Amino acid sequence: MEGLHIHGVSHAYGNNRVLNNVSLVIPGGELVCLLGPSGCGKSTLLRLAAGLETLQEGSIVINDVTVAAAELHTAPEHRHIGLMFQDYALFPHLNVLGNVCFGLSGMAKRKARTRAMEMLDQVHMAGHAEAYPHMLSGGMQQRVALARALAPEPRLLLLDEPFSGLDTNMRTQIREDTLEVLRASGVATLMVTHDPEEAMYMADWIKILGRNGRILQTGNPHEIYYHPRDEFVARLFGLMNTVEGVVEGAKVETPFGAVDAGAAADGETVQVLIRPEGIVLESGEGEVGVPVDVRSTHLLGHSSVVRVATRTDAGGGQEFFVRVHKDFAPELAHRVMAYINPAHCFVFLIGEGGDVPGADDLNVAGADKDALKSPDAKAKAQTGPHRVEAAE
Ligand code: ATP
Repeated sequence: MEGLHIHGVSHAYGNNRVLNNVSLVIPGGELVCLLGPSGCGKSTLLRLAAGLETLQEGSIVINDVTVAAAELHTAPEHRHIGLMFQDYALFPHLNVLGNVCFGLSGMAKRKARTRAMEMLDQVHMAGHAEAYPHMLSGGMQQRVALARALAPEPRLLLLDEPFSGLDTNMRTQIREDTLEVLRASGVATLMVTHDPEEAMYMADWIKILGRNGRILQTGNPHEIYYHPRDEFVARLFGLMNTVEGVVEGAKVETPFGAVDAGAAADGETVQVLIRPEGIVLESGEGEVGVPVDVRSTHLLGHSSVVRVATRTDAGGGQEFFVRVHKDFAPELAHRVMAYINPAHCFVFLIGEGGDVPGADDLNVAGADKDALKSPDAKAKAQTGPHRVEAAE
């Protein structure tokens, strides 16, 4: 079968075991993202597939040819792979055309030039064929690197955090252009990233690699986001609110309404993870939901994060982060009601999922990352225009 088959790969650096029985299949024309926190072994797997690291356990097959197994190590240059790294790694002394032609050394010069120009055309860089890398923006260099990687028609393309050096606006355009070129090429692609949004945007399939070097979940972006198998996977997508409860009648109560307890049995103590978009705020005297006090609001651009507290007889209750549409201005609201959207709530037995990613593991936007700090720490840091008095 065309594509990549990795079977039962384990790897250790000395006593540090970084990959634990990892298997994956990427058919030709599909893109699989390996997503996980920094240091979980993503690049190691990619380097093993490339042949830049010697395999210790398992096997790697590309287009039905075993390239690594016990006692077998095919050199990188004989694996027919394309590689693209975060820093693009273009040769500074060669112009754009020279860089793309570099991987076509086995081809007649004229044919190589025609093929290189064809690839440059696909990535919209044909007009810059004579330019040198230092004359190009990061996005342009990324396009050239993609053309260079695909020019020899590799059997497998390996991308290591390919867009992380680009600014936000350029990244979206280049992701889209890259997907178009990859679809046209029909190549199997393995991309590693610690950016969940990047993985969601690019991947046909996402594989979550945990800190123990095991694959924790495989699914398409929708499945991974809406049906995370454990707490680790759920928390990869950023900010989460947590409440604990005991299952009763297959439901568990949250301050904003009950949610289905899933597989947890009655009487079990569980935690409910609620995404900020899982709490819905409405201004006014609506009948639905429970009243909450708004502690602060933070406009992030496309959305706002609002910090609210439930009310108790003793005064302020538990704090929650809520994501709302940017135009919602709860500080102006006379009264704010909150209710739950169960699609963004996940129930897990306490301790399920083991290792849990922290704020620094996540590649969320700066303001979101800041919001991940504990509500108490945030409250202390609140000053000036951010401070919003509780709505009565
Ligand atoms: P990042 O996203 O930060 O690049 P990663 O998930 O790609 O992380 P790896 O680069 O594969 O992780 O590294 C996994 C672990 O193995 C880390 O603890 C790293 O320090 C260690 N490691 C990686 N390469 C080597 C090496 N050549 N020798 C010793 N340890 C290494």
